[in-house]
Amino acid sequence: MMRVFNSGQSVFLSMDKKSSSPIGSFFRRLLGRDQAESADTVAAPLENGRQLIPEEVHQIPRRHLNDAAMKTAYHLLDEGYEGYLVGGCIRDLLLDKRPKDFDVATNATPEQAHELFRRSRLIGRRFKLLHVRWGRELIEVATFRASHDSQPTNNDGEHGRQNDSGLILRDNVYGTIEDDALRRDFTVNALYYCPKDHCVYDFANGYSDLQNRTLRMIGDPEARYREDPVRMLRAARFAAKLDFTIEPATEEPIARLAHLLDDIAPARLFDEALKIFQSGHGVESFHQFRKHNLMQQLFRQTVESLDNPGDDPVEALVLNALTNTDRRLQQGKSVTPAFLFAAFLWYPMVRRMAQLQREEGLPPVPAMHEAANQVIGEQIRQTAIPRRFSTPIREIWELQFRLPRRQGKRAERLLEHPRFRAAYDLLILRENSGEDLKGLGQWWTDYQAQNPQARNQMTREANKDEPQKRRRRRRRPNKKRTEQQPKQD
Ligand code: ATP
Ligand code: MG
Repeated sequence: MMRVFNSGQSVFLSMDKKSSSPIGSFFRRLLGRDQAESADTVAAPLENGRQLIPEEVHQIPRRHLNDAAMKTAYHLLDEGYEGYLVGGCIRDLLLDKRPKDFDVATNATPEQAHELFRRSRLIGRRFKLLHVRWGRELIEVATFRASHDSQPTNNDGEHGRQNDSGLILRDNVYGTIEDDALRRDFTVNALYYCPKDHCVYDFANGYSDLQNRTLRMIGDPEARYREDPVRMLRAARFAAKLDFTIEPATEEPIARLAHLLDDIAPARLFDEALKIFQSGHGVESFHQFRKHNLMQQLFRQTVESLDNPGDDPVEALVLNALTNTDRRLQQGKSVTPAFLFAAFLWYPMVRRMAQLQREEGLPPVPAMHEAANQVIGEQIRQTAIPRRFSTPIREIWELQFRLPRRQGKRAERLLEHPRFRAAYDLLILRENSGEDLKGLGQWWTDYQAQNPQARNQMTREANKDEPQKRRRRRRRPNKKRTEQQPKQD
């Protein structure tokens, strides 16, 4: 029998320890044994604004709860620990959206939880976690954490650490479920689903904020942003993704404190950039990021072009790239960060290239390569782009200069280039954004749709429009120069 007690500071569940098999107990619970047991535990609202929202009120269908996450939580319960589904997954289920991932929170330390799951791995240093694997699914199990000014309980020798400006360096101070709720970022991200009584536990008034579609920081917004500036990116991201309004006190410090993101590791910012712009809500995120002065914290060079577009359709290209990405995600198609970065940084690269030609007299191809190096190099200092993406960005750009040259067998060879598709997509976006490419995009669209004979005819026709190939004079090989030359097909 399980009962819910409200013992002053936190909610405790007392529970029996009948089963040791997570799978057995999982099915028993699905069959409803626990629902009957929990009839007497559906509690009235707790004091101090802490509430239990019963199943008939929150109405999360049980079939929407992830099996692997439920098995994880049940196994923790069976072993005498607490176990809840928490965070974005509960928020999304309440909004009738499909959660991206499911997280479990427990009072077991990472090491204690590790003992309980055969297929589990401890990860993280800044924030210790347990990854539990069930088939192809991965469930993240986090120990209840306390905020840094509360006394560490149960902290296993590890401490939280903050630097002088309040930035959290390490976050391994353990606490109760209530501590855990209050150290989360937004009220709607601090809802816990209890697999025993199927209630949602709310310690921060998140349920009511969720119903009012309000994004509200828990605690003092400025202090919480100083603790972790990435929360500013998360505020704008969730506002876009959930179509929520950021509550004024939560919104006000963002533009003012955006610069604090300069202190965040570029690798973390790269991960955040992907979550923001490859979430299926890229266009709305872009508007939120511009509005809140956050865009330049991720894409300084893009913002410079956006603010000084001259004759270039910079914003149109960025928005078209995002619309295209959003549409592909909606259709269940894959997307690559290389494409998005190539589009965001296209005008910065083209401008740098023109500058290198103008000021240093570099010929177009070496200028393009040098511009690509400089622009990608600068971007990497903001968001660490892994090499597996930076190389394709260069290739997509290089192909923009090769796609107009279709003589002989070139068109056919270009079609086989592993980056052809992405390069063609960027070409189309440039054209749709307003660059005058003399029908080149349409030519490639038609070319792909044709049979070999018609393709031959098309390349012959295209030759007429292209400048005649100049005969290259034999030159004595100059090693340095040859190294810089790009492949000429
Ligand atoms: P989504 O997965 O849809 O991007 P999410 O809210 O689940 O959204 P995660 O990054 O998966 O985001 O984090 C899971 C939960 O961890 C959050 O809901 C929140 O409670 C907490 N959390 C994540 N990042 C932070 C942070 N920087 N500060 C405080 N709490 C955080
Ligand atoms: Mg999540």
